[in-house]
Amino acid sequence: MTGAAGPSQPTAEGAPSAGSGRSSSGRSSSGRSSSGRGGQVVVALDVGGTGMKCALVRPDGRVTHTERHPTGAERGPTAVVGSILDVAEGLAGKARADGLTPVAAGLAVPGVVDETTGLAVWSANLGFRDVPLRELVGARLGLPAALGHDVRAGGLAEARLGAGRGTRHVLFLAIGTGIAAAHVVDGAAFPGAHGAAGELGHVVVRPDGPRCGCGRLGCLEAVASAAAVGRRYTALAGVPVTAAEVVTRAAGGEEAAARVWRETIDALADGLAIAQALYDTEAVVLGGGLAEAGAELLDPLGVALRQRLTFQTEPRLLRAALGDEAGSLGAALLALDTLDTLDTPDGS
Ligand SMILES: [Zn+2]
Repeated sequence: MTGAAGPSQPTAEGAPSAGSGRSSSGRSSSGRSSSGRGGQVVVALDVGGTGMKCALVRPDGRVTHTERHPTGAERGPTAVVGSILDVAEGLAGKARADGLTPVAAGLAVPGVVDETTGLAVWSANLGFRDVPLRELVGARLGLPAALGHDVRAGGLAEARLGAGRGTRHVLFLAIGTGIAAAHVVDGAAFPGAHGAAGELGHVVVRPDGPRCGCGRLGCLEAVASAAAVGRRYTALAGVPVTAAEVVTRAAGGEEAAARVWRETIDALADGLAIAQALYDTEAVVLGGGLAEAGAELLDPLGVALRQRLTFQTEPRLLRAALGDEAGSLGAALLALDTLDTLDTPDGS
């Protein structure tokens, strides 16, 4: 996927894109438009429950190197943090070996993340509890560092470099094993007061529905995540299949699959109608595994959402453009934003 989505010139143009949020606040162009950053790269890591997606990214958004590593979450949080630091240091070394200068590091992790303090507050997958990841990475590399939430980082990248490019108000919805959202305005994702904004997956859409991992009944993610779609079909038809297979079978006219898929679309539309009432966005970018369904998802979801809106303006529904590299690109953007803050005289 590297480079395929074309995030080549995110800041060079005045149009809303990678740097738009920053330039509108007058903090941007100083560093990135200057020629002094030719050999510079940022180190970016997107740490997931099973794997780390890593990249070296130039200030103009171009990816010069990618690598992937297992997270090894079963080893416990201390070992995971050790691996993150080793991998980050290895990436900085790789940059230097390629004649490039690493100038900052960005890290995206799942769970509850306090971007302001740089704390990984809580993560079910990684076992994190108040881990000062930003400080640890910054100290190991001797570089400015940024820590972000994985879905917010992905949303940031989609809004600035991907499907939402040129759009000021974007809601990114990641539908995979779970469901989470990121509200991005002018190129900045809102984390909330406690680092836990955007949990659209835990809005209750079916009060008598299946129990969610969070403990409640009928959360959106318990009905409509990729994992839930597979589970519900298996319960109905007795055959274990993936969500993608359910979509294929539904498109082929199979009754049970069509029913599960229709219920999924309805639940997602209920969730998006709530989100649109709250956020009034221009575009909703759909990512995660379920978005691979493409038109089979977007077309009926658009119809179902339209039926639910009254006075609200209908957002455009777009399929995510950056694939599973959105998180690492978002981590790179967070690192670059750190430099902007440092560069600008009034930024400190
Ligand atoms: Zn829940």
